[in-house]
Amino acid sequence: MDRINKNRRKFFQTSVALVGGTIFYSLIKPFEAIAKETTIEKNVDKPLWGMGVDIEKCIGCGKCTAACKTENKVPEVPFYFRTWVEQYTVKNDGTVKIESPNGGIDGLVQSVPDEDIFKSFMVPKLCNHCSNAPCVQACPVGATFVSPDGVVLVDETYCIGCRYCIQACPYGARYIDPIKKVVDKCTFCYHRINEGLQPACVEVCPTDARIFGDLRDKKSKLVKFLQKNQTQVLKPHLNTHSKVFYNGLSSEVK
Ligand code: SF4
Ligand code: SF4
Repeated sequence: MDRINKNRRKFFQTSVALVGGTIFYSLIKPFEAIAKETTIEKNVDKPLWGMGVDIEKCIGCGKCTAACKTENKVPEVPFYFRTWVEQYTVKNDGTVKIESPNGGIDGLVQSVPDEDIFKSFMVPKLCNHCSNAPCVQACPVGATFVSPDGVVLVDETYCIGCRYCIQACPYGARYIDPIKKVVDKCTFCYHRINEGLQPACVEVCPTDARIFGDLRDKKSKLVKFLQKNQTQVLKPHLNTHSKVFYNGLSSEVK
């Protein structure tokens, strides 16, 4: 974190520049456009980290939620998660049931009788590391910022716990740590990726439903995933320029 503290003002200025820009995502874009449009010109020599989520592969086992909690010392109390998995069940009568007991950490079990189910699928969620992040805009002290490699981070030494960013995030990705009284959320396991490792959730996923990589590297697994699939982001109408891309996202997903 020392290195982050040293450069945080520079990062914050960069994020403000991004927010003020005219970056735009359409619903589905080739990876070249995604990388180009999220480029911070000064940092083209750095990775631009993102994640893919293949809904067709997720089995709702919750190993990602559990690994994240352990790796990042997320409070044990229910409802504190950096990542979680939601089970969507579309019933024959057209209604949609969304369940995520304890973030899916114990594995999601279907509660709707088979005969009532039209379709059912799992949706892993986390911070979208938005390039045009409402949380960054809302933070009054610059504690939330975008790193040069595109990861939205929180400097806990600057956070005053005002919760403005929690209100601003349209994805429910943030919480106040009950012990530290500062905001916390997914960092793409920044401490791990800086060591060349995968985020914990990606490493433990038994079905490769989560794909992490550099959006600027055409050989990365993530770029290959984007090339192969017509991915979508959550709530594209908000123009947050999410860097978490879903394959197989249904219109019912909020
Ligand atoms: Fe900020 Fe929420 Fe976007 Fe994450 S998902 S960058 S917390 S607005
Ligand atoms: Fe889905 Fe993989 Fe998470 Fe299991 S570990 S719930 S398969 S994303």
